[in-house]
Amino acid sequence: MHQIEPVEKQAEVLAELTPKPEMVFAVAQPLGRLARWMRLMGFDTLYEPGVTPARFEKRCHEGIYLTRTRAAGEQTGKRIQIETDRVKEQLQEVVSALGLQMSDLNPFSRCAGCNAVVHKMDKQRLKSQVPDYVWETHRHFSRCSQCRRIYWPGSHTRRSLAFIQALFSPRGRQGQDARR
Ligand SMILES: [Zn+2]
Repeated sequence: MHQIEPVEKQAEVLAELTPKPEMVFAVAQPLGRLARWMRLMGFDTLYEPGVTPARFEKRCHEGIYLTRTRAAGEQTGKRIQIETDRVKEQLQEVVSALGLQMSDLNPFSRCAGCNAVVHKMDKQRLKSQVPDYVWETHRHFSRCSQCRRIYWPGSHTRRSLAFIQALFSPRGRQGQDARR
């Protein structure tokens, strides 16, 4: 069976670390890009288009709810009201609201598509499952435990990591402050 991943998927590679178990997020529509980046940062992030806000909040009452919708009435659980439009600024809102540090993250430890944990794979077992040139030019591979997507590091991974690191750099935060 051949499973060829688009270049875009190369960003979602495995980290050796274990995902942080203590924080669980649920992201409301239409914040799909935010949800994807939260997963890339390693956070357990529920995002299911079509689920009503009420059902969503019920399911994640122990978690942190990220939403653009203003709270109506009494709220249970923790909620972060996202105010900005661009995903980088949205992520900075989350980082700032929770006082996150880079060390709280575990980049590329989860599948951005389905949120499951990814596991390191023995390269030999994947020979027929990735394109030959990818198999020959990469040493490290991982696979999603749920949707079985195969990931490997590439230039997109480096760009994604730089994007994540910039959320925590003093310059990045100054830029954010200057717009306020
Ligand atoms: Zn997956």
